[in-house]
Amino acid sequence: MDRELPFEPYRTKVVERIHRVPREERERHLREAEFNVFKIPSDAIYVDLLTDSGTSAMSDRQWAAMMTGDEAYAQSRSWVDFESTIQRITGYEHVIPCHQGRAAENLLFGVLVREQHVVPNNIHFDTTRANVEFRGAVALDCVCDEGLDPLLEAPFKGNLSVEKLEAAFAKYGDRIPFVMLTITNNSGGGQPVSLANAREVSASCHAHGVPLFLDCARFAENAWFIKRREPGQQDRTVEEIAREFFEQADGCTMSAKKDALVNIGGFVALNDGDVAGSISERLIIQEGFPTYGGLAGRDLAAVAEGLREVLDEEYLTYRIEQVARVGERLDRHGVPYLRPAGGHAIYLDAKSMLSHIPPSGFPGVSFTAALYLEAGIRACEIGSLMFEHTDPDSGELVSPEMELVRLAIPRRVYSHTQLDYVADACARVRDLGPRLQPLEIVWQPPALRHFLCRLRPSGGGHLIAT
Ligand SMILES: *Cc1c(COP(=O)(O)O)cnc(C)c1O
Repeated sequence: MDRELPFEPYRTKVVERIHRVPREERERHLREAEFNVFKIPSDAIYVDLLTDSGTSAMSDRQWAAMMTGDEAYAQSRSWVDFESTIQRITGYEHVIPCHQGRAAENLLFGVLVREQHVVPNNIHFDTTRANVEFRGAVALDCVCDEGLDPLLEAPFKGNLSVEKLEAAFAKYGDRIPFVMLTITNNSGGGQPVSLANAREVSASCHAHGVPLFLDCARFAENAWFIKRREPGQQDRTVEEIAREFFEQADGCTMSAKKDALVNIGGFVALNDGDVAGSISERLIIQEGFPTYGGLAGRDLAAVAEGLREVLDEEYLTYRIEQVARVGERLDRHGVPYLRPAGGHAIYLDAKSMLSHIPPSGFPGVSFTAALYLEAGIRACEIGSLMFEHTDPDSGELVSPEMELVRLAIPRRVYSHTQLDYVADACARVRDLGPRLQPLEIVWQPPALRHFLCRLRPSGGGHLIAT
């Protein structure tokens, strides 16, 4: 069937009122938040695209599962559903529940990562990088070169470069405890990884006797892209494709706040019984008994139901086309973004829109602040504020290749009208051009500074020059 708009395969049963507060109030909130949108009260936000993490609308079935969740401390019915659903989808034997993705990273890396280690990944997500670096190890990004060219159209820009991986094996040898593959590649524009690439990476890892783990927060969106874009995959179900993808690896960490369509939850799943045993020992100290891992029984039940729902191909088609449509509207305005549109988000190219602001002046943060001020929209910088880091060889501070502003689209939440409003507002902010001022950091914490840091327009002036 031909249709103009991606058709929602659901109807709305519950609504939540939102308001656009007046501009003077937005100005005050931005000042009080010290230009860090993470600190603006949610009630003062009109369209919240800060993240797609934990912001999904749950289905009637998920809410029903929550009401009938089993709160037994050990071996609850909800745990059994959670464990068996994850085993069925991933094929991995051991499932370790925890409250979110970074807890899964902490548990796995706590067992496997040591000082001096080097962990290759296509691109580490921010918490993944922090969890590697926190242990005195190096987080090495090995995404393919196409993945670093924001305007290039290519189907699988999330692929990990096997050449770069082999070079890392040659250089670091047994300092590499495992390799990770992030699907979709969140920090590189929500771009997918092909099944062919997963097979190659897997072969390279296993030839070196090193396990491969997936950071699989968006495994279903990734599988949908494979079905649409990879030759020979069109006639398989998304579930079959996802399963074969999981088979290439030895385990995974997952933030269930993404493709499990829930507000909280995560897990580690893997085949190695010894590593699973060590993780479970840590789990009992840090998160909870191995059959709930810091979650309520009802949370486990909602994850299990969400994992079943996310594999619905009508849902995935609507989901990914809704994001692509925001891109098409931006195209009409000539607003540049990382191409093609990602699975869960659009990544605006702040570097090219605000070429007068150097990375040290945080062009992505300046755009994000202005987008809130102009339209009440909350986005998230993915650039130098989030990812400036020390080069392991030279010891110098280096900026990431791209300065992006991510518009993350929560699942099943916003209408086409609301997203049209967002695309049009982005064009208005782009039109401010050189009037937008750089920002400087007033205070920052030692790790993950973008969450908590305080900023101001450079020299203490206005964000938008008159
Ligand atoms: C969100 C995310 C994480 C971290 O998960 P949290 O649930 O936020 O702790 C890790 N990796 C990727 C790719 C993510 O998108």
